[in-house]
Amino acid sequence: MNRPTCAVVNLSAIQHNLRRLSEITKTKVMAVVKANAYGHGAVEVARAAVEAGCEWLGVAFAGEGVALRQAGLKANILALGYTPPDQAAEAIEHDLSLAVYDGGVARAYAEAARALNKRARLHIKVDTGMGRLGTSPADGAALVRLVQRLPGAEAEGLFTHFATADETDLSFAYEQLHHFQGVLSKLNATHARPRWAHAANSAAALGLPEARFDLVRVGIAAYGLNPSPEAPLPADFIPALEWKSTVSQVRLMPPGTPISYGREYFTKGEERIAVIPVGYADGFRRFPKNVAQVLVGGRRVPVVGRVCMDQIMANVSGVEGVKMGDEVVLIGGQGGARLTADDAAAWWGTINYDVTSGIMARVPRVYKS
Ligand SMILES: *Cc1c(COP(=O)(O)O)cnc(C)c1O
Repeated sequence: MNRPTCAVVNLSAIQHNLRRLSEITKTKVMAVVKANAYGHGAVEVARAAVEAGCEWLGVAFAGEGVALRQAGLKANILALGYTPPDQAAEAIEHDLSLAVYDGGVARAYAEAARALNKRARLHIKVDTGMGRLGTSPADGAALVRLVQRLPGAEAEGLFTHFATADETDLSFAYEQLHHFQGVLSKLNATHARPRWAHAANSAAALGLPEARFDLVRVGIAAYGLNPSPEAPLPADFIPALEWKSTVSQVRLMPPGTPISYGREYFTKGEERIAVIPVGYADGFRRFPKNVAQVLVGGRRVPVVGRVCMDQIMANVSGVEGVKMGDEVVLIGGQGGARLTADDAAAWWGTINYDVTSGIMARVPRVYKS
């Protein structure tokens, strides 16, 4: 049984965005579908991405990749994060490519692959300045060669990740790029360059053409969301997700009526208050308070009182004729009005990535194509 709150995901929009990325970058595209495709639904988005021409899918960890295989996806899948050696056999059995940044772990992967009579497909991860996962640029080429010499392993790729590609000042991104190119030239000199060199996230794919190499790893841009306010998407990208609900009650409240837990909000005059069945357990954040808006009757209205686990209240006094059953838009368009994941990110002191990936599993995803 469904519920009156859902996320509507437009798979054609994702395909359009991916095709535009491919045209703009003239590079093969990895659709990054980690975290349930940033909340959009991993399996459906992965299928749509493959249909749109993506040869690669990116996930955060092996379990996400195995789930895609179990759903029948045949494309290349790279687990971008850490795969514990005790999960290597299962990952290799499902033909996942794995990130590696440690010689001992590479040996363990190779051993697991040999036991299965397979080869571990490894992408050596170099930390060129993100300060997160990876081996140092000084050690990158040696790790590639170690993997190349390991029976049961294959150095399929070399990659790095940018820390600031979504900022106006790209000087640090260029420094990172320089370190990555250094590792690649060392490998080129000995004809040991892996087939797939990749570095660019969405922001770099669009804003740093030198970083495209053999593959661009795009997440946020595929979903039609800006990598950051400083790195907006081209105008023809389409946001793929709408978050909708339905008015469950409208009441005319006298002046001075407290609304919701803690009585933090009192109606100023006589106010019409709509109750909406979405709350923090759906990913509609509780903090900071009283800054969010929703769309009702094609107008922006303020959320008033504390956000509850399953419900919010909105002051709809300014909109004529709001009644039970009317559509409410939390993210998306209604009439001429629009609320974006960027708006919600601004209310909640976060980024659009966090907003859509934070829409909880109990919100049904409804697909349109
Ligand atoms: C999440 C992720 C990406 C995608 O980043 P976007 O900014 O969403 O395009 C690319 N590469 C790695 C390693 C990631 O973790």
